[in-house]
Formats: sequence, structure tokens, C-alpha cells
Amino acid sequence: MYTKRVVACLVLISGLFIIIFAAAKMHYIDQKVCTKCGVCVEECPEAAIEVIEKDGEEIHVINQEKCTQCGVCIDVCPEGAILAGDAKSKAKDDKKQ
Ligand code: SF4
Ligand code: SF4
Repeated sequence: MYTKRVVACLVLISGLFIIIFAAAKMHYIDQKVCTKCGVCVEECPEAAIEVIEKDGEEIHVINQEKCTQCGVCIDVCPEGAILAGDAKSKAKDDKKQ
């Protein structure tokens, strides 16, 4: 009984770490910085960047199910609007230098 509880806890903790690690690597588009130029949409090798309508406005978003975190979009975005998980501020700063 005790062993089953320990195993269940370990599985739960492992799952949480996996989720946190995956979230830390996800790429995001900073909507306040994006100018909607469309360069990232053209350059993404996975066609993972989509234009959707939100609150009556078209915005660019990354489909996390398609994104492989290759980083191409970060390199090509002229505004530094695409951020990568824990490297969010670094990606932004690098583009503004
Ligand atoms: S390349 Fe950058 S600025 Fe242009 S649409 Fe993509 S995220 Fe926005
Ligand atoms: S990281 Fe790569 S796959 Fe993901 S959105 Fe950017 S260019 Fe596309």
C-alpha cells in the first residue's frame, strides 16, 4: 500500500516536471511588439504560425502542436517579437541590439 502511494507520487511529480519543462521551451509571440508583417509565417518550416482573429483583430500565434521549437522564427522576426520560454528576455534583447 505504502509502495503504491510512493510510486503514484513519483509518477505525479515526474509528470509535473515534464509539463513545466515543455512550457519553458514553448515559443510565444509578444502581441504588443508584433507588427503583423508575416515574415515568420512565410519562414516557419512547420507552418506553425497562424493568423487568427481575436477581439475583432487579426493576430499571429504559434500553434504549439505543430511547433518544433527550431528557433527560425526568432531569427527572422525583425521586431524581436518572438520569445522562447526561459529565454524570453534574451531573445528580445538580442534583437534590439
Ligand atoms: S515576423 Fe515578428 S513582427 Fe512579423 S508577424 Fe511574425 S512575430 Fe509579428
Ligand atoms: S520555433 Fe520553428 S516550428 Fe516553431 S513557430 Fe518558430 S519557426 Fe515555426
